[in-house]
Amino acid sequence: MTINNDRLKSYFEAMSLIGKLGETGTCRPAHSPLEKEAFELASSWMKDAGMVTRIDNFGNLIGRLEGSNKELPVLMMGSHLDSQPYGGRFDGVAGVLCAIEVVRTLTENRFPNERSIEVVSFADEEGWRFNKGLFGSRGILGRLDEKDLTRTDQDGITRAQALKEFGCDITRFKESEYAPGSIYCFLELHIEQGPVLDLANLPIGVVSGISGPLWWTVQLKGMAGHTGSVPMPIRKDALLGAAKIIVAVNEIVTQVPGAPTVGTVGTINVFPASRNIIPEEVTLTVDLRDIDLHRRNMYEKQLRDRIGEIAKMHHLTYEISEDTNNEPRYCADWIKGCIHDTCREMQLEAPELMSGPFHDAMALSYACDYGMIFVRCKDGISHNPLEFSSDADLATGANVLLGTVIKILNK
Ligand SMILES: [Zn+2]
Repeated sequence: MTINNDRLKSYFEAMSLIGKLGETGTCRPAHSPLEKEAFELASSWMKDAGMVTRIDNFGNLIGRLEGSNKELPVLMMGSHLDSQPYGGRFDGVAGVLCAIEVVRTLTENRFPNERSIEVVSFADEEGWRFNKGLFGSRGILGRLDEKDLTRTDQDGITRAQALKEFGCDITRFKESEYAPGSIYCFLELHIEQGPVLDLANLPIGVVSGISGPLWWTVQLKGMAGHTGSVPMPIRKDALLGAAKIIVAVNEIVTQVPGAPTVGTVGTINVFPASRNIIPEEVTLTVDLRDIDLHRRNMYEKQLRDRIGEIAKMHHLTYEISEDTNNEPRYCADWIKGCIHDTCREMQLEAPELMSGPFHDAMALSYACDYGMIFVRCKDGISHNPLEFSSDADLATGANVLLGTVIKILNK
């Protein structure tokens, strides 16, 4: 049994026209009329595949293929159809469209599914509009927080208002939640959004887990002074300290060659930012990720020590505030096994790799076992109109997903 490559390609082509930006880009904000249009199109394909569709009160699109035994927990798969404001055609879209094609293939071949299958396009995975993502996937699991509905977008529209305009009834969230134990497992196919597969010249990867980010804001304080007169030995130059911290982050995360640890200083603010004043204050952000929490904790300790030493050396005071601290979430071994077996049958070499970015699967990981399939994307470019995965790779990914689903249904 294999998927229909031409049909899958036509799905991507038709979807790329909704919220089209320039030649190859997409702008499809969460809870927007454009996302509604995308839902209507995807919903028509779900119906063609034999699914019954609905939009729930969190703004998720859900297609359900009823199994012969309604009591069994559901096999869920999907991703998201919302995009970044300056996004591409594949992030999220790949997981939804490939899942629909998998179900279409199963029903065309009259595959007898005892277990029900659901394909979901989760609401607001991206999180840029209201500055917090994974809304729909957290919603169905009862994991929203107090402020989720009062967050506003650039135009001052609250999420509550946007959901209402989308047709959701925010007083009836409970009805859209899934009871504990009602989801058997979750599968998400996603473009890699990194260059590992492209560099290895391989189309498919098996995800080992989603690494949890540790996010810090570091503030360094020194002393301003005239750049022409203060002698070097007595300076308190906060930017010099910051420069050494940036280098330290890089050195710490690269001590084990080949390890997947990544560390980045992504923003830096200098005060007073004048060419003839010694920098007095610097604020920078640190993003540290690893699939191995023990190693990440060890590196965190090393970095704290280094920052202490650097501050002392340059007579600076400092403060570290923790903004986010998520633990890694590992894919289930038995699902990875199903994906690996499928790849072997297809004679595909599929390496295991971790996901640095988070996905809807991360929210689902708190409710059920999950697995993820990565599809190669050109040069690792994502969140950019240049994002590209080939039709052939997407079709291969969909076939891996199909084989995995069949193995799970046969269990
Ligand atoms: Zn995504």
